Amino acid sequence: MTLKSVDVILKRLAERPAELAAARAAGAKVVGFQGYSLPEELIHALGLIPLRIGLGGSDRLVELGGRYISTKNCVYVRETVGLFADDTDPYINNSDIFAFDATCLQTFRTAEVVQYYFKKNVLIVGVPRNFYLEEAETYFTAELRHFVSRLEEFAGAKLSFEKLADSIALYDQIRDEILAIYEYQATARPLISWEEVFDVIQAGYVLDRRDYLGLLQALHDELAAGQGAAVIAGADDEARIFISGSVIPPGDKKLISIIDQLGGRVVGDDLWSGLIPYVEVDIKEPTIAAVAWAYLHRTPHGALPYLDLATDGRIARLKSLIGKFKANGVIYHTLRYCDPYTFKAKETKDILENIGIPLLELHTEYAGSDVEAIRTRVEAFIEMIKLKTETGVAA
Ligand code: SF4
Repeated sequence: MTLKSVDVILKRLAERPAELAAARAAGAKVVGFQGYSLPEELIHALGLIPLRIGLGGSDRLVELGGRYISTKNCVYVRETVGLFADDTDPYINNSDIFAFDATCLQTFRTAEVVQYYFKKNVLIVGVPRNFYLEEAETYFTAELRHFVSRLEEFAGAKLSFEKLADSIALYDQIRDEILAIYEYQATARPLISWEEVFDVIQAGYVLDRRDYLGLLQALHDELAAGQGAAVIAGADDEARIFISGSVIPPGDKKLISIIDQLGGRVVGDDLWSGLIPYVEVDIKEPTIAAVAWAYLHRTPHGALPYLDLATDGRIARLKSLIGKFKANGVIYHTLRYCDPYTFKAKETKDILENIGIPLLELHTEYAGSDVEAIRTRVEAFIEMIKLKTETGVAA
């Protein structure tokens, strides 16, 4: 049974395209964006409506996008381009300007293609390759200042200290609510599954951010009031799965459905499209420099090169989240031509195996042709984890 507050979130999601069209007709301006290092707070503080764009799971849109961008790009990037070519996505069609960052260079390429072929107004934020150098902070702060100045021209308004402080406070509250709900789903008798929380997080990509905070608070209250009343169907604590790797955007249900159908219980993730953007974002004051610092000091994205595994923040975060959510196996999902995450699969597997956490690597795309092969491998992995949990020894 779906929770009442989750039903309300899904209903608000269905209403959102019409609401956006009405807001634009009344003069509001919308920024469609894609990228891990794009601080939404800056867009929001200028009175603009931020929408995180992009879908997955459609072979048709991937094929369409592949007519404009090389087929050696990942399917997520090709589907994003396909969305522009298709010209029916309500969030793309309701955006007045687009912002992309260069965290993943394929996203940067998407921006160029969108600008060239579809004549969209596009802003690009440069991202340093090594976040830990002093120069990286100087460079990224300058990039964000430039980004804000372009948005100010577009908005016809100046970024103020007070408005930025309000937006940061709002986003801090959203992050706190998401973290609380997320931690709750991993407990022993939750009323909400990880899959539902994942959908709730992704609903937040397009909903009005102040409304979204209220919806999250209502969900949090409903969970607190009903604690212990029931358990989610099929919740099986013997195979607690953590998902890592390439993005799983809205619309891509292939892997999640297979795990669910096979009785695995997902309890955590470190996906760009899941929990990770909300973890430990510490904006110390309402200035562009402080926003830049906070975004550089979050968990690093897998697309950024980092050679010293002993001090790699991505690996450290992965290990700490696996421990926190008591996962006993990792499914590491990579999209074909997602080179950043594919190259990191082996090192991630080796590191986790050293601490007794098995990792299953699945390399896939949006076509349905490999569903049965994935099902067989996930089934064997879940069985192995269950056996290990029951007996305490590796199968
Ligand atoms: S990180 Fe991978 S999945 Fe994400 S945009 Fe880049 S290539 Fe695609």
